[in-house]
Formats: sequence, structure tokens, C-alpha cells
Amino acid sequence: MVERSYFDWNATAPVREEARSAFAEAVAVNGNPSSVHAEGRAARRLVERAREEVAALVGARPADVFFTASGTEANMLALSPSLESAGDKRLRDRLLVSAIEHASVRVGGRFPANAVHEIPVEASGRVDLAALAAMVAESAWPLVSVMLANNETGVLQPVAEAAAIVHAAGGLLHVDAVQAAGRIGCDIGTLGADLLTLSAHKIGGVKGAGALIRRSEDIHLSDPLIRGGGQERGYRAGTENVPGIAAFGAAAAVARRHWREEAAQMAFLRDRLEAGLRAVSPDAVVFGAAAERLPNTTLFAVEGMKAETAVIAFDLEGVAVSSGAACSSGKVQPSHVLAAMGVSPALVAGAVRVSLGFSTAEADVEGFLGAWRKLANTLSRGQRGIAA
Ligand code: PLP
Repeated sequence: MVERSYFDWNATAPVREEARSAFAEAVAVNGNPSSVHAEGRAARRLVERAREEVAALVGARPADVFFTASGTEANMLALSPSLESAGDKRLRDRLLVSAIEHASVRVGGRFPANAVHEIPVEASGRVDLAALAAMVAESAWPLVSVMLANNETGVLQPVAEAAAIVHAAGGLLHVDAVQAAGRIGCDIGTLGADLLTLSAHKIGGVKGAGALIRRSEDIHLSDPLIRGGGQERGYRAGTENVPGIAAFGAAAAVARRHWREEAAQMAFLRDRLEAGLRAVSPDAVVFGAAAERLPNTTLFAVEGMKAETAVIAFDLEGVAVSSGAACSSGKVQPSHVLAAMGVSPALVAGAVRVSLGFSTAEADVEGFLGAWRKLANTLSRGQRGIAA
């Protein structure tokens, strides 16, 4: 079998062993969590244990965790004009989202398009807090969404500072922590977030489970996206994905126990990878390098490289990387994140994302660098006019 090196953890992480076992055990439980008989109660126990584990990962109370079918759904659920705090039922007039949010936030949830405004980012890739302050000052009753870590660059956002600005203006803050969870600390209280989104498959759970977590019961969503049987205390109807939720809980428990050492190892390997990359290509640009970043993400480009060609070349060498965000299969679109950071379109077209995870090993980094040496050689031959 050909050994491959997987560097697309920001698209999805391999399933953790513990999550695999939890999934298999849950598949064998026959009951519906809403049923009162023993089988139903057994399924309910799995869901509630997972709720405790997911809550613990972000320092929340289990009662404030609502399971969804994805991070996308949790974002859609959160971004509603009728989001209430402390029983105040006034409709929120504006949704302010940073210009680098994931597509599931940028679409604006259930706000009308003309109520959705983009907060600019600085060249470093961090949200512009002065612009945020000016924008909340112009809003009567805003909801703001700023992600904790960007999925393309890995740049960490000043969420706690944003929370202070938003709260001083009477607004609420939603934080998409999908890429940050399990890689950096994500305590909902420390962040000052009112709502937080997680996705199971980014932390080693299986695809098809997510969670929206609220700061306290002070925050209330009166218009669920999916209505019906009243599951998830009315926030999300539909019989729970018990195996997916159980695996989510198991992955969250491992992430909570081990994220610090895993993050240190990822940062060590990522730094080696970037040093190796720069040794081969001194002109390589690593986006967001001036800012604090996730320990696992490198988004880079060299002049003259085409990202799609590079991704295919890496793949042929047994290395899985991606061209920017890869959320919809085969759809290659110029990165809105790099555009918002003011990167030239020529460089944006060549941006390749390399993302590591808890099981990335030194041999993977060597595999990447070997493949890059070949590709960089081909590129420079091409630039000198020699047929590759
Ligand atoms: N938010 C961010 C920052 C993401 O990177 C992603 C997926 O890539 C999502 C949300 C969506 O999560 P899901 O795949 O669970 O819908």
C-alpha cells in the first residue's frame, strides 16, 4: 500500500480511535432517545454523556449545549434576528460578520441580505476592531459573528476584545470555533462569547454532528430552524444522530485531555514544515505569518504557482493538501479571506493550504518537503522557460 501524508485536517480530521469505538457502541443501541423504555433510556444516556463532554471542552453547562447535524447548521441556527438575551424580545436590526468568516456565516443566517454587513480585516488577517466599534455604534441592537480561528490562514481573531466592544454596545457575539476547538483553549466564558459553534468532524468525531452552545440560559432562540418533535429542548427537532453525537462526545473528551500536548507537537512540526519550505523557496509567502495563528495551519503561495496544479502534483506524490477552503467538492473559487487581507489576485490564485493534526508525524513533514522540492524545481524550470 502506498503511504500517504494527510495535510487537510482543516477540511476534516481522521476519526479518533475513541470516537470510532463510541460510534460502534452507539450503533448497537437500538432505542430512540425520546422513548421511555430501557432501550430508549440507554440511547438517551449516550446523548447526555456526550453533551457533558462537549460542554466540558468549552467550559459550558451541559444544559446549554444543543446538538445539530453540522457546524453549518449551528451557524444557521445562531444567526437569527429573534435571538433574545435576558428576555428582551426586540428583533436584532443588523448582523455584522467579519469578512473572513466561513460561507455558512457569510450567508447571514436568517437575516435579510440588506441587514448583513461585513467587518473588514487588517492585512495581518485579524478583524479590524476599530471598524467593528464604529459599526456596532451605528446599529441599534446588533448581533455580531467573529470566528475564533480562520479556516484558511489559521489566524486567531481577537474575540475577547470584540466581545467587550459588542457587549458595551448592547450587542451579542456569536463565535464560530469550528477550527479552534481542540487546537487552542476555547472557554466560552473567557472568550466572552454568547454563542459558540463546534463541528464534530474537525476534532476527530464523525461527519454529521455539530453543536451550538450558549453562554447561559439568558440567551434564547425563539425560532428554531427545524421544528417538529421538540428534540434538543425545542431548538432542533429530529431524532438525534446518536452514534454521531456519541463519537462527538468521545472526541471532545480526548481533545480536552490532550489538546495542549497535541498543539505543541503540531506547532513544532508546522514550524519545521515552514522552515523547510522557506529553505527550498525563500520567496514563499506564508499568509497571516505576522499574526498569532493556530498551531496546525500554513497557507502559502509562490509567485507563478497555480493552486489547483500544485494540489494535483502533491496528490500524485502521496500528499493531500488543499487549495484554500475546500468546503464544496471540486469547487475552486478565489479565496475571499486573502482578498479581504488585500493579497494580490496573482498570489491568491496560488494559495495552498497545509493543515496538520494530532497524528501528523515527522515522516509526513518529510514527505511534504520531498514533494515540494520536486514541485518547486518544476516551477522554477517552467519560469526559466524549460518544458517541465
Ligand atoms: N465553520 C468553519 C470555520 C469551518 O471551517 C467549517 C467547515 O469547514 C464550518 C464552519 C462548517 O462545518 P461543517 O462541515 O460541520 O458544516
